[in-house]
Amino acid sequence: MSEAGEQGTLYVISAPSGAGKTSLVAAMLEADSKLGVSVSHTTRPMRPGEQDGVNYHFVARDEFEAMIAQGDFLEHADVFGNYYGTSQAWVRETLASGRDVILEIDWQGAEQVRRLMPECVSIFIVPPSPEALRERLTGRGTDAPDVVERRLAEASEECRHALEFDYLVVNDQFEEALADLLAIARSQRTRMGVQQYRHQALLAGLSD
Ligand code: GDP
Ligand code: ADP
Ligand code: 5GP
Repeated sequence: MSEAGEQGTLYVISAPSGAGKTSLVAAMLEADSKLGVSVSHTTRPMRPGEQDGVNYHFVARDEFEAMIAQGDFLEHADVFGNYYGTSQAWVRETLASGRDVILEIDWQGAEQVRRLMPECVSIFIVPPSPEALRERLTGRGTDAPDVVERRLAEASEECRHALEFDYLVVNDQFEEALADLLAIARSQRTRMGVQQYRHQALLAGLSD
């Protein structure tokens, strides 16, 4: 907990691969300095342009399995045949320091986090159409054709879980989707559960 007793807000963001989640989260971080993103561990191969420790902590399968055994993960899941997992320690420490944390994870991870931390705020991002998803995944140019096909095939499974989330953001026009996401974060900060700590003295003074 921070000195004021405030706990940061945990955001769980999921989307079918290629919906624009990573680009939107990067833009959120630039626009709002109070937000931080958890860097996941993964066993998938590094894409051109990705950096170890920045986009992901890239680890071997046996290393990942050892981390599962040690209880290092808040959640982990098998996505498209690779392991992905969120560091337990980093997330808990960052929230306790009063900072907000974003998790970019799949629906299986979201389900686990919701169970462990029911106070989290979950957001599902969708593309405007199935065709747009295909174009974006192909246009990104980071995945081999068979990987793109696999991700498209898994997209409908991911989308079947959309109703489990608190918010739905349609990423048609990037700037509009970004504004929606920033509005969600902003409204969260004015919730009474958060504000009553931040403005304790003000409320006490006004109530005298
Ligand atoms: P992209 O979403 O198309 O850029 O592909 P990635 O390879 O970056 O991510 C693949 C999938 O893994 C996505 O569904 C992510 O949401 C999910 N993912 C990433 N990190 C984590 C994590 O720490 N935990 C879980 N459960 N899923 C993750
Ligand atoms: P995800 O992390 O969900 O897999 P990315 O952020 O990698 O998605 O985005 C997939 C591709 O779509 C990227 O090439 C990105 O530049 C592009 N993209 C993201 N949002 C939009 C948008 N609103 N309109 C058009 N292209 C977009
Ligand atoms: P990519 O391999 O394209 O970076 O990610 C593929 C999927 O894995 C994305 O949908 C992403 O959200 C998910 N993912 C990334 N990190 C994690 C994680 O730590 N946990 C879970 N459960 N999913 C993750």
